[in-house]
Amino acid sequence: MGFFDGFRVTIRQVFEPRVTHRYPDEKRSKPPRFHGRHVLGRYEDGMEKCIGCELCAGVCPARCIYVRGADNPPDAPVAPGERFGFVYEINYLRCIHCDLCVEACPTEAITESKLFEFSFVDRQDAIYTKDELVVDDEGHPRQQPWEDWRPGDDAHTSGWMRATSPNGDAAFEGRVQWSGELGYGVRHPEAGQVGDRDDEATGNISIREVDAADIPRRYGGRYR
Ligand code: SF4
Ligand code: SF4
Repeated sequence: MGFFDGFRVTIRQVFEPRVTHRYPDEKRSKPPRFHGRHVLGRYEDGMEKCIGCELCAGVCPARCIYVRGADNPPDAPVAPGERFGFVYEINYLRCIHCDLCVEACPTEAITESKLFEFSFVDRQDAIYTKDELVVDDEGHPRQQPWEDWRPGDDAHTSGWMRATSPNGDAAFEGRVQWSGELGYGVRHPEAGQVGDRDDEATGNISIREVDAADIPRRYGGRYR
């Protein structure tokens, strides 16, 4: 009898719901505030949002952003205003995905996507250049040879979060100005940012409104 007692736990597990997925062919949905690799956005008219102000580089605790701004050519401006991001690099061997760069950016130029599956064989590939970070002519991230994407993985590239209110003014808490964006139109507020958020557009849910027991069902794992 003791022999079978030893299998009790194993046999019980056989009847538990399966929580594993056939990754990477099947990917479970990512948490609402997942921080993946960055993209540099563009306005709907194709202009780049980055103005080369270097605030993101200044705030980065890992010192992994390198920016150099330059004056916009008057006859062919790259970004609205006087300056644009001439050089822009992020070193993913150092980035801790804290999102402070996103918080600091005054033009919503840099955001973090939900793309995270990349593996380099060359350390140089870990340093994403501006050409790799700026979204393409349709507003979508540019897939690099070392990135593993499946259809739909870039669906919420525009998804991001901002923990603080614009301009630091408490009167604006929870309200965000959403600028037009190439490929996604006007960006929709995410869960918890405004009362009239559009969860269907962002694919997000508010953690606060989800029963704790429901979270494992949505994101894997088990709740006891
Ligand atoms: S997410 Fe954090 S660590 Fe990564 S580049 Fe931005 S500020 Fe730096
Ligand atoms: S990404 Fe934003 S914060 Fe960084 S240099 Fe460009 S405009 Fe400035």
